[in-house]
Amino acid sequence: MGTGMPYSPETTDVYNLANISSEEIPELPKSLGDWLREQDESFLSKLNVIEFPIDDSEVYSRLALGFYLQQQYQTLVHKLESAGIPVVQMIGVEVQDIEVVRDSKDVLLKCDNEIRYTFSKVVIATGHAWKEEDRPKNGYYGSPWPIQKIVPEVGEMYNFAIGTLGASLSAFDVVTSLAHRHGTFKKMKGKLQFELNSEAPNFKVVMHSAEGWLPHLQYEQEEPMRKIYRHTDRIEMLSILDTNGFLRIDTFFDTVCRNALIEAFEKDGLEKMASALKKNTFKFGDFVHMMTNDHEYSDSFEGMKKEMVTARDSVLYKRPIHWKETLDDLMYCLNFHAELLTAEDYLFFKKEVMSFLMNVIAALPLSSADILLALHDAGCIELMSGRVEVQEDASDEGKTAIKVDAKDGSSKIVQYTMFINCAGQKNMQLDDFPFVSLVRSGNLRKARAKIMEEKSLQKLQEILGDDAIFKDEKQNYMYTGGIDVDASYRIIGKDGTPNDTIMDITFTHTSGIRPYSYGLQACSATSKILVESWVLAAEEKTSFVADIENMTELFDDNEL
Ligand SMILES: Cc1cc2nc3c(=O)[nH]c(=O)nc-3n(C[C@H](O)[C@H](O)[C@H](O)COP(=O)(O)OP(=O)(O)OC[C@H]3O[C@@H](n4cnc5c(N)ncnc54)[C@H](O)[C@@H]3O)c2cc1C
Repeated sequence: MGTGMPYSPETTDVYNLANISSEEIPELPKSLGDWLREQDESFLSKLNVIEFPIDDSEVYSRLALGFYLQQQYQTLVHKLESAGIPVVQMIGVEVQDIEVVRDSKDVLLKCDNEIRYTFSKVVIATGHAWKEEDRPKNGYYGSPWPIQKIVPEVGEMYNFAIGTLGASLSAFDVVTSLAHRHGTFKKMKGKLQFELNSEAPNFKVVMHSAEGWLPHLQYEQEEPMRKIYRHTDRIEMLSILDTNGFLRIDTFFDTVCRNALIEAFEKDGLEKMASALKKNTFKFGDFVHMMTNDHEYSDSFEGMKKEMVTARDSVLYKRPIHWKETLDDLMYCLNFHAELLTAEDYLFFKKEVMSFLMNVIAALPLSSADILLALHDAGCIELMSGRVEVQEDASDEGKTAIKVDAKDGSSKIVQYTMFINCAGQKNMQLDDFPFVSLVRSGNLRKARAKIMEEKSLQKLQEILGDDAIFKDEKQNYMYTGGIDVDASYRIIGKDGTPNDTIMDITFTHTSGIRPYSYGLQACSATSKILVESWVLAAEEKTSFVADIENMTELFDDNEL
């Protein structure tokens, strides 16, 4: 409680790094940097914090972040209790089901301690859930969590190649946890090097990525905090809605993004990009295409080495890369208005824009990149491009076979003694919702977006299949994944009515409505939106209406 899945010693290894620095963490009683500076060095060394002095723009181990978050949580609980507000913590008690009490507004929680609890408001914030089963007999792991399950016993080593599905931040956790147990990292003339243990000469990690991409690197930011209305404001957002109330993505790009990006590229001295954007015929899709091409390397490790020079320069000399930061703020803004998108635009955002954003903006810390490059120089890591399909039936005994379909149309089968799915969590389906009574009683429905044009129907059906499309009276809809919530996170029932007593802020449940909400800053903004909408409702003595007028005002007033 207060720690969270990615930062807990039950799931995470001491070598797994956070991707957020002290100056990027939303305000808590004490900053991470100050907290680390107060700790004893021997305690810090147990958390793999070994470089001093502590730097507010540096990233540290996720375990250190977990201990810090725990202490901040305890401080906040203590403050509440001192102010006369009791806090009951039920540590180690699992909530098994949630039920709305008939003819009442109360909500019943059924727990694994056989006791039932009744509440007048319930917030679901169950976080990450890794549902895919492991098949250890085949060396297949549905997720790397808890990471302890894939790490060899003390004194043992893996003398074979290990495959990962994915080559992004979760795969790097696997890489760092395994590498530290199969060799030693040393700094020679300022450069990190890896020496493989002679007892495991065949140890290697092969990362699979559909596009053959490695994530891009950390960069210096002018403003470490994301802000919904950094490049626009409430008035402008309301003015660009069309007559049906839709926010068209091209209109958003033309009105809000274009000038902000031109200014950012000019500050970065990237005239070519700025002048491309100055042509009004150059649309959002063209922009994504241009930046993807610019960031695609024929050899991703060589690309990373080259990028390291500019990234280190940016971070060491505090030279911001303005266009990345600007784009991140713009997409953060779009995320908090995503329910206003048409299905057509939502799909474009999800399919075309998100993978580019996750690659370019979900930046890899430089210390993680140093580790990868050292392993690459030592011949202990490889990146294989091509779409992967696990072949359960074709696996030899004790192995996992995968089929890799390359971009050039060729395909091959590869067998692994150990293969770990690091592709992240998929959108939750309504049937997988953890509290079944809410599904059965019709208190939930699937998240959806309105299909604007009849002519898109066939295309959407071809891409997503018939089950993803449905018609309700006269309107066609596309399911966007997860459950439907309104902008203040109230769950929406089958009849379309928001429930005033149950809110869900779990990212994986609500990603059909808020597709670009990653990391602690989005967690903080989400909680603030929830609480502020309660405060407003209490002040007005009425339910909060989460319409565009009220939501934009709430974002504006709270400088979210
Ligand atoms: C591997 C990984 C690394 C990440 N690293 C970073 C990072 O470095 N920086 C960053 O900003 N973001 C990071 N993130 C993003 C991450 O989503 C957030 O930082 C944050 O952990 C989300 O917090 P949460 O409280 O929503 O969920 P969680 O941290 O998953 O917490 C959910 C809590 O709910 C409890 N719970 C769940 N179900 C029940 C139940 N039925 N009954 C009782 N309790 C229950 C769990 O035990 C847990 O305590 C990372 C995510 C992952 C997966």
